[in-house]
Amino acid sequence: MTPSLSDHPTPVAACRVGVVVEAPQHSGLLGPLDYLCPEPLEPGTVVRVPLGRRVVTGVVWDEGDTSSDALDDSQLKPVAEVLHGLPPLSAAWRQLIQFAAGYYQRSLGEMTLMVLPPELRQLDETQWGRRLKRLDKAVAKGPEGESGEAQALPDLTEQQAQALEALAGPSDKPFLLWGSTGSGKTEVYLRQAQRALDDGQQVLMMVPEINLTPQLEERVAARFAGRHIVSLHSGLTPAQRLRNWLMAHTGHADLVLGTRLSVFASMPRLGLIVVDEEHDPSYKQQDGARYSARDLAVYRARLEKVPVVLGSATPSLESWHNALPASEGGAGRYVRLAMPARVGDGIMPTVRVLDLTRVPKPLPGRSAPPLADELLQAIAQRIERGEQSLVLLNRRGYAPVLHCSDCGWKSGCPHCSAWRVFHKVDRTLRCHHCGFTERVPHACPDCGNQDIAPVGRGTERLEEQLAEVLPQARMGRIDADVTKHKGALEAQLASVHAGEVDVLVGTQMVAKGHDFRRITLVAAVNPDSALFASDFRAAERQFALLMQAAGRAGRDAQVAGHSEMWIQTWHPTHPLYAALRRYDYAAFAAQQLREREMASLPPYASLAMLRAEGKTQEAAQHFLNRAAELAQDLAGEAIVLYPPVPTPIQRVANVERAQMMIESANRLALQRFLQSAQALWLDEAQKNRRSGLIRWAVDVDPLAI
Ligand code: ADP
Ligand code: ZN
Ligand code: ZN
Repeated sequence: MTPSLSDHPTPVAACRVGVVVEAPQHSGLLGPLDYLCPEPLEPGTVVRVPLGRRVVTGVVWDEGDTSSDALDDSQLKPVAEVLHGLPPLSAAWRQLIQFAAGYYQRSLGEMTLMVLPPELRQLDETQWGRRLKRLDKAVAKGPEGESGEAQALPDLTEQQAQALEALAGPSDKPFLLWGSTGSGKTEVYLRQAQRALDDGQQVLMMVPEINLTPQLEERVAARFAGRHIVSLHSGLTPAQRLRNWLMAHTGHADLVLGTRLSVFASMPRLGLIVVDEEHDPSYKQQDGARYSARDLAVYRARLEKVPVVLGSATPSLESWHNALPASEGGAGRYVRLAMPARVGDGIMPTVRVLDLTRVPKPLPGRSAPPLADELLQAIAQRIERGEQSLVLLNRRGYAPVLHCSDCGWKSGCPHCSAWRVFHKVDRTLRCHHCGFTERVPHACPDCGNQDIAPVGRGTERLEEQLAEVLPQARMGRIDADVTKHKGALEAQLASVHAGEVDVLVGTQMVAKGHDFRRITLVAAVNPDSALFASDFRAAERQFALLMQAAGRAGRDAQVAGHSEMWIQTWHPTHPLYAALRRYDYAAFAAQQLREREMASLPPYASLAMLRAEGKTQEAAQHFLNRAAELAQDLAGEAIVLYPPVPTPIQRVANVERAQMMIESANRLALQRFLQSAQALWLDEAQKNRRSGLIRWAVDVDPLAI
């Protein structure tokens, strides 16, 4: 077993320990609880302790309360079980958890137990012993797969070589690897990982969504055949997750490839952290403890004194600002490594902005084609040449709403302030927010009119319409509905790679990561909605998505020359599209940063969102108003509390939601404020239960506004 990195090499004298146990955020139980121990226990040891009438898993955190008003030994219960054989969690790991709990305003117990594999919480000592034996056997057998011959490595491009040289240098700043899609960022990660592995270190490689990047998993496995590689993500069975976590924790795994939760993987020999597609919103947890794995990766790297590489073609504006030198108005906290060119002769597709205001209206009695004629012709040309096209529409289902033209009825969800989406495949109306599903009615439920019609369109309808106007095309579709079933995504992707699909319709899901060789046309057919969204990050997200989508085309030098990215828009002169035309992320970022600075928005200010859910909108807002009143004195001048408002989708599953934005120019001041305010809010929330408050939570650095 690998020795632990505990900061307490000598056993603690008094046989009392502070144990962190799972506790809901608002239980008021924030720190460790004291227990008596049968023997001195090192901090980080996993134990089972009595709590109320249950026995629960906990982690020894410290030597217990040593203050004068600590409980007397006689008032304490003893630890029930010690998971011997499991090396204690290191001091660095505990500090990461402690920081995350404090920063994201959660209890230490919730944070700790949330990031440990669920199975670890359920095993008793005997089951535990068996698991460890099985693990030892697996390790003794050696890694899966051939360790065979070493792969022939490609010669590095000049840009890759420069980036790797900088990465080898003595810098303790995080690196931002800013490289176009196809510039060879992954190759840089792999080379840097090789260095760490050669030095006997472990590597943590993070990706936004593991299922969308099966190719990366294969590449890593092929490159490091003969090494122990494990993955960590929520798609694993509990047994797999425990096994992989243990492999990392015991130091047997050389490389951990994981999604956001892997930032908490216990790795005693950690030597490198990579965060691929660092701008991706999936790095932010969207419920419970709403942590940002990207930001925690940066914290962890500094804590453990290991390099961290954030990679993206379109960095988050926060990271970009951090990587801009002070002379360019940035914070100069990160080192920027630029790789603007695509590997080989790959070039980015030519952007064609299709101005919908100039497309002639259909003749009376004729319906408009699903896409502008010009675009349809371009797709038809591709089919003729045996090339593929990708048509992006970020809305699944057949039509977003059904409508009765007689009485005006619309397919609203009875439980949410949202429309139910019409899905033609199974003739259902489905709410994408609460899941409420019904058969499509034969006639209008309000007036009996038989003629209810779909309004607007989603991917299902677009696929159907394109099949009609392009009868020669073999159609394919990838969205969350198609890929619900296990293996369906893989199968659909395989048929695209095998050239069995001419036109692929998809949501943003297909824009990410895939290395499609024969795609020479990508079309975004309805990208305008993001231009006028209320969320200040909408434009940033849209730009990243379109850049990423464009990156799907022209990856093969043989067909890259005539590859195109089409934008169907009513706003052809919008600055976002102007920057996209030139693939000028830097210009786009500069323009966005100017706006953010004027509006005091991140990265120039720190935000937190106090969210409340209630039986009524009044109940939710009442709590927020009270919270603001109570915290007004604490807020002082440094903190701005905005008036509470309903969330963009106000009611979901019969629960009303409201939010209050909290802003400060000073991150530390915001942190201190939230910490003190929580206690007041906790109290107030108790009082509001009877008047209909259901839940409340603080979201620090919220992504969606
Ligand atoms: P990115 O991660 O930036 O999108 P990749 O690392 O996936 O780029 O590289 C794109 C393609 O180019 C891949 O097929 C990869 O194998 C190949 N590639 C990367 N670096 C080189 C190189 N130095 N020489 C030749 N091919 C390379
Ligand atoms: Zn009607
Ligand atoms: Zn609903």
